[in-house]
Amino acid sequence: MNIPWPHGTMTGYKHHCSCDYCREANRLYHRDQRAKRRLRTKADPSVVPHGLGGYKNWGCHCVECTKANADHSFDQYYGRS
Ligand SMILES: [Zn+2]
Ligand SMILES: [Zn+2]
Repeated sequence: MNIPWPHGTMTGYKHHCSCDYCREANRLYHRDQRAKRRLRTKADPSVVPHGLGGYKNWGCHCVECTKANADHSFDQYYGRS
């Protein structure tokens, strides 16, 4: 069988390979990215784009991010725009 790329690496994922090995590599990669982002947030909170997304994407729980996240959930719940 001809294997065009090394499976279990981000190379395979970039080829949109969805075999178990490539999916796992992608999962670990993103977990790693998230962990790094959280470390950066801790080291320097000013890099965080505060507001919507800061809470979920950066793990920032400052007043602004918490409020934006809460407002967003509220809007979705009640269907406001
Ligand atoms: Zn693969
Ligand atoms: Zn924040």
